[in-house]
Amino acid sequence: METPGKEKQKLIAFVTGAGRGIGEAICIALAGQGIAIAALARTEEDIQRVAGRCRQSGGTAIAVQCDVTDPTSISNAIAVTEQQLGKINILVNNAGASGSHKFLGHDDSLWHKMINTNLNSVYFVTKAVLPSMIDQKWGRIINIASTSARVGGKYIAAYTASKHGALGLTRALATELAEHNITVNAVCPGYVDTPMTDQTISNITARARMSPPEARAVLERMNPQGRLITVEEVAAIVAFLVSNEARGISGQAVNIDGGAVQS
Ligand code: NDP
Repeated sequence: METPGKEKQKLIAFVTGAGRGIGEAICIALAGQGIAIAALARTEEDIQRVAGRCRQSGGTAIAVQCDVTDPTSISNAIAVTEQQLGKINILVNNAGASGSHKFLGHDDSLWHKMINTNLNSVYFVTKAVLPSMIDQKWGRIINIASTSARVGGKYIAAYTASKHGALGLTRALATELAEHNITVNAVCPGYVDTPMTDQTISNITARARMSPPEARAVLERMNPQGRLITVEEVAAIVAFLVSNEARGISGQAVNIDGGAVQS
């Protein structure tokens, strides 16, 4: 896909939650388009492995340790990225956490963890990266939300609230940043085959006394296609939203869920 308006070699992506799952696939897909990658997460070993995979396939990538709930850690990560790669012009807010509980008896720590990791992080990282995009008069921001940003779900009130918040922020920023040639979009997958979903399967297995294959089948049935979404499908949409062909798309939420959610 074409990326004029910006020299290909000057595209620099800051990808949060890049140590595994969806974030890892996004790094590989964007590196394959010639985009330099800063792969961020808290676990050094994971991001080193992902940056190594990007480099092995001919790309440019660095691993930068970062906790996206901590503004100081975010500023440090931006400084390292700018020093080693240059100014960031693509931001993928992918880092996230999931958790579930009935609303009654809900522990406040679960609420705070979901809001901090899935919503406050998007606010902190975007606010910190934006001045550089405004300077460059070009930018792409892609927030990995969820179908939980579109519809309510039982036992996932905090996760749902955090993802609805991330989509609200996406829409507000799309209007505010249009004049700076910056697009802001959300990608909303259903259940994706990642370590996060493995954890969900373990939780269902423990709580509902099902076998792991039965628990996995419950999640697969939520998709009318009867399967989990792959990480590569999510990464391909991100790569498209970064491209020049997608320059008119902003403030949108792209569902990837086999047709489960239709608004
Ligand atoms: P994983 O749990 O597999 O990976 C999450 C990544 O985020 C890890 O690299 C983790 O690394 C990082 N991360 C978590 N917390 C922080 C933090 N505080 N600071 C920095 N990095 C952090 O998740 P997925 O790949 O499945 O999910 C990625 C995104 O997609 C999330 O936002 C999730 O909500 C969303 N999503 C996932 C779906 C699914 O079914 N899996 C469906 C819909 C949306 P580390 O712990 O080392 O920091």
